[in-house]
Amino acid sequence: MGTVKLRILLCVLFLVIVSLVSLAISFRTTPSVPAIDISPSLPNTPVAIGSPLPPEPTDPLASATEETPAAPAPSPTVSNFVGKVNLIIPVAGVRSDQLIDTFADARSEGRLHDALDIAAPAGTPVLAAADGRILKLSQSERGGITIYQLGPNQELIFYYAHLSGYAAGLAEGNDVRQGDVIAYVGDTGNAEAGNYHLHFSITIVSDPKRYWEGANINPYPLLRR
Ligand SMILES: [Zn+2]
Repeated sequence: MGTVKLRILLCVLFLVIVSLVSLAISFRTTPSVPAIDISPSLPNTPVAIGSPLPPEPTDPLASATEETPAAPAPSPTVSNFVGKVNLIIPVAGVRSDQLIDTFADARSEGRLHDALDIAAPAGTPVLAAADGRILKLSQSERGGITIYQLGPNQELIFYYAHLSGYAAGLAEGNDVRQGDVIAYVGDTGNAEAGNYHLHFSITIVSDPKRYWEGANINPYPLLRR
């Protein structure tokens, strides 16, 4: 009978030793694996996150104004649209020969103007340059009171800035016709007090939902006909 007890005791001892050894092994391996694996993966993720930071939907609204942030795109061809897009001068009473090409003018912080300034008395009606949907009515430090309008074929965005106010009842989502009064000339934003003009820019966009992105094309050849 004594030998049976001894065998049981030995068995229990063996089991205890085995479990202790396996515990010791697992303790050694588990901490070392994550400690090495996690740390190199962490610095990797911020690098990946870093690049998608620029396209923030709120930021472009503030910046896409008087001085457009230096468009990195290689100047898209205006000629693609000349003769294909029928635009009117978006300020009432302004004739084609009164337009001055201010597209390539320099602006602050090394930016280019990338738009057309059309001088007119305060309160002159601003007209929709073409048929299209009003995408956004917004205000920004540089542009003042502004409108983003989707133009023909969903590939052009018109941007009207320094407005004194919107036409009564104008709202985002409105479909306007070419020549409709959408706003009035003003000097809001960084136009400088009393420097009444419409800042008008045309952008080619790939996605109309991202109306603040895209490359500016010179409105001048499209309006001066
Ligand atoms: Zn301007």
